[in-house]
Amino acid sequence: MTSRCKSTIVGIDLGTTFSLVSVMRGDGPVVLTNGIGEVLTPSAVSVADDGSILVGAAAKARATTHPTRTALAFKRDMGTDRVYDLGLKKFSPQELSSFVLASLKRDAEAALGEAVVEAVVTVPAYFGDAQRQATKDAGAIAGLKVERIINEPTAAALAYGLERRSKNLRAVVLDLGGGTFDVTVLRIEEGVIEIQGSAGDARLGGEDFDDALAGLVATRMQAEQHVDVRSDPRSWARVREACERAKRRLSEAQEAPVVLLELPIGRGKMHDIEIVVRRDEAEAAWASVLDRVRQPIARALRDAGIRTEQVEEVLLVGGSTRMPCVVRLASQVFGRLPSRQLPPDEAVALGAAVQAALKADDAAVEDVVVTDVAPFTLGTSVMTTFAGHRISGRFSPILERATTIPCSRVHRYATSVDDQEKIEIEVYQGEHASCEKNTLLGGYTIEGIRKGAAGSQEIDVRFTYDLNGLLEVETTVVATGAKKTLVLERTPGRLTPDEIARAREGMKALKFHAREALPNATALERAEALYVDLRGPVRSELGELIAAFRMVLEGQDRKQIEDIREKLVRFVQAHR
Ligand code: AMP
Repeated sequence: MTSRCKSTIVGIDLGTTFSLVSVMRGDGPVVLTNGIGEVLTPSAVSVADDGSILVGAAAKARATTHPTRTALAFKRDMGTDRVYDLGLKKFSPQELSSFVLASLKRDAEAALGEAVVEAVVTVPAYFGDAQRQATKDAGAIAGLKVERIINEPTAAALAYGLERRSKNLRAVVLDLGGGTFDVTVLRIEEGVIEIQGSAGDARLGGEDFDDALAGLVATRMQAEQHVDVRSDPRSWARVREACERAKRRLSEAQEAPVVLLELPIGRGKMHDIEIVVRRDEAEAAWASVLDRVRQPIARALRDAGIRTEQVEEVLLVGGSTRMPCVVRLASQVFGRLPSRQLPPDEAVALGAAVQAALKADDAAVEDVVVTDVAPFTLGTSVMTTFAGHRISGRFSPILERATTIPCSRVHRYATSVDDQEKIEIEVYQGEHASCEKNTLLGGYTIEGIRKGAAGSQEIDVRFTYDLNGLLEVETTVVATGAKKTLVLERTPGRLTPDEIARAREGMKALKFHAREALPNATALERAEALYVDLRGPVRSELGELIAAFRMVLEGQDRKQIEDIREKLVRFVQAHR
């Protein structure tokens, strides 16, 4: 039986910059298009003047024209209690993510012609418990049951693995996105895709290249025109954005222009930037960023217990692996050319669809088995004695990273002082010897310990990691058999079922731009954003087109609307 007989489970890559939705069709996964016919939906939310909510490309374009009404990169705040104030309305990161999920849900429903209620959602491997729970909550608010949460690099590995399941090989997936870098070591053997190790840097990605390039442009501006482009935050944001575009060009060309007109710098003065950056010059500025790419690779290989020469294939995922210097670095490290058979932006979403098919017992993946590893070490805080001194806050690992999940480990601890009546259990995730430097996930107190000499009373602490990377902790007092379970629910930003229900109701009360209205809204917002960057006759030409489009939008003539929209879209593409 294929999944189409039941309701389809979709795969969702809920990204920091872009999100995608995919499904299994026939033998392979496919990415679905959104309301404007694109596969990448920007993870952006904006509140329009009338209080309605825009999601996706139209919202992203408003980041230039309405920065205080627009939220981007909110995935970074998942699992925290940050509140985004978008002028007319305030939202939590979960709510903002739920708007993106709901928009993808609608796109999938439009493509499949059926209601979509279940999804597999990917998260970065470094996401801890709080962020995974927040992702599930976001799904619930959007009316999606998150059937499974899987690690993004595992999803990418799964997409690649599906194509290579008839082979036996050891591969490494390098996923360098906008803000994160993940390395996954996997082994494929007779349909079993085994993740053997994964490591990453949660603060390394395309944005670091943008920053370094913007730094180069700033230095040249200072030297050549004696202006400090860093002095005005809005101008600096525009410089960084222009550098991101230039960086993309440098992936194809040996040089790229950075053109920014009328930047307000220093007491309302306007400056124009017109600088041509050469690729070799940019690569010199990126040297330290590239150096950081090497470290997680070494760690992942060490965790998996293999050497670079044992890796038979190097697979690239993530927009930043389009950079020639990144490809060169991967070739140098592994001594072989990396391959990129799947579109780098889509691999994670495709893998999510494969996982969704596995969940639905789809015949296309009948012979596939996938195993994943715990991304972090989990442990507790213990007190130790050294040279007669008591030292508290030492990290005692129970479940080490790179252990295959699901898994369960138990560790026995003893009282540390005479007649101790209580034991505090604090759960930490991280890799540092001192708890202080790791992340506290929660804790509780075990009472009813029998009196006795230090070390005479014992408790067992059991950690269980489920397939979603969610943790459960159980303690047993050895002498009495009394058990207690810690459910890590009240981590910051975690919502109660009541709060989820309220957020869901709140969402129903909001006015969202209809899917059919998105092509017009997106064309208009993108044009308005470009208008900010242009000058002279081209700007006037664009201004006229925008005015004409606004006018025809007032009427009902669909043909006329589509004609002018087409012209506007072509103009924007040509001048961006
Ligand atoms: P992802 O999160 O995988 O979608 O990656 C997004 C990152 O990839 C952003 O930092 C983009 O600037 C970067 N990116 C996308 N396309 C290119 C390209 N052609 N050259 C260099 N970087 C790119």
